[in-house]
Amino acid sequence: MAVETERLFVGGVWRDAAGTFDDVNPATGEVWRAVADGDADAATDAVEAALAAQPEWAALPHDQRAKVLIEAMGAIGDLQDTLVEALVDEGGSWIGKAMFETGFVAGTAQAAAVAAHMVTGELLPSDHGKVSMVVREPVGVVSVITPWNFPLLLSMRAVAFALAVGNAVVLKPSEETPLAGGVLVAKIFEAAGLPPGVLNVVTCSRDRVAEVGEVLVGHPAVGAVSFTGSTVVGREIGALGGRHLKKVALELGGKDALVVLDDADLDRAVGAATFGSFMHAGQICMSTERILVDAAVAEDFTERFVAKAAALTVGDPRSNIIGPVINAKQADKIRRHIDDAVAQGATLRTGGDNDGLFFEPTVLDAVAPDMTIWTEETFGPVAPVITVSGEEEAIKLANDSEYGLSAGIITADEERGLSVARRLETGMVHVNDTSVYDEPNAPFGGVKSSGLGRHGGKAAIEAFTRTRWLTLERGGRLYPF
Ligand code: NAD
Repeated sequence: MAVETERLFVGGVWRDAAGTFDDVNPATGEVWRAVADGDADAATDAVEAALAAQPEWAALPHDQRAKVLIEAMGAIGDLQDTLVEALVDEGGSWIGKAMFETGFVAGTAQAAAVAAHMVTGELLPSDHGKVSMVVREPVGVVSVITPWNFPLLLSMRAVAFALAVGNAVVLKPSEETPLAGGVLVAKIFEAAGLPPGVLNVVTCSRDRVAEVGEVLVGHPAVGAVSFTGSTVVGREIGALGGRHLKKVALELGGKDALVVLDDADLDRAVGAATFGSFMHAGQICMSTERILVDAAVAEDFTERFVAKAAALTVGDPRSNIIGPVINAKQADKIRRHIDDAVAQGATLRTGGDNDGLFFEPTVLDAVAPDMTIWTEETFGPVAPVITVSGEEEAIKLANDSEYGLSAGIITADEERGLSVARRLETGMVHVNDTSVYDEPNAPFGGVKSSGLGRHGGKAAIEAFTRTRWLTLERGGRLYPF
């Protein structure tokens, strides 16, 4: 049976590309949609359409831009069934995760509408009695490149805020989730009444990402780039951005720790570890990928954690919490991490097997810091547990990572939790919660190899605007000649 074809969205017009690529359902292996395979010319057209549309959009009163974002919130509600279907069928999302994601992005549109009212400047004292003003202006055209794991959320968090503060946008979603991350984002804003050209979507296959990326970063009209994805590709985008002197925000990989201290409420700890490690089959940048448990509670914690993990069912994501991982490349990496850990002496406490892209929820203990599973991002439903002797060792091992995105700390003592939090080398820490947490008004982002720059709330205003200094001379400055 022929599948539907999805097109590019450029200058407010849906159009074909020279060819298409397959959008595959990871749960069934079947082609779900044929999607336009955009190229460098399509990307150039999209940037130029954005450039032409941006001044009028930026000149609108900010409450008019906010109104479009509020309309987008409504459109997300109207399109919810279509959005959930795409998140499940092309992204392999558990249906509960898909429902959460669509709800979250409605909140993102709302927070972005508020941000449209929050672009403020400063009035500086002046040595010469000038009126000395700092103003914030949109950067012009923003390129947004996003991954497949939370495609709708990660596209919306950049697109909605970039639009709110007066930019036009070119969005390139992942080739794994071109609908949820791109085509449907265009449909949301088309329904919301966004003027043509202010948002453009260029889908493309993995074969064309380099040529499309070159335009989205290098085109002279692009003022800022928001990239979310792997650290490997993020470094390339960062280098390209450096070459073209572009403002670049990079949200990259993670190897987040959950620290369970000796005074932890173990029910809380087990709940946090299970959600943090197994939500979306562990395919979240902030997934809990290392669990550091104090020796005083380690066996009790691990037994309870293993029982809870083993009860999670695997299969069709419409009815099972653990669905497929996204593709064979990811499955190979997860397999390699589990096999390497076991070969080097880790103990398999539950799981460990896979049927193609479907992995059992897996808990390993006796994991050591020199194993691949300790150092590399796994991005699968696998939780390595390591026993530590006290808080100092937990902090040392939590910081023993090239990454620094998020972390969780479980303790009965809030003051202790905050003091440990301050010593962790991450962009975000959640005391008495898992590492997996986000709110649309909070500054989301990492340190070390987890990235540069922040999304969310005021941080997004900073990411998508530039500062200018304007003065008004009123006779106080004298010239020497
Ligand atoms: P990826 O880096 O392979 O791809 C991300 C995006 O970049 C995709 O749209 C891809 O098509 C595009 N891309 C790839 N090569 C490119 C190039 N040369 N030029 C331009 N674009 C290019 O990542 P992925 O596999 O899609 O996503 C998983 C990764 O994303 C994980 O490492 C995860 O931790 C990370 N991630 C980070 C965050 C965060 O906020 N920090 C959130 C979600 C995912």
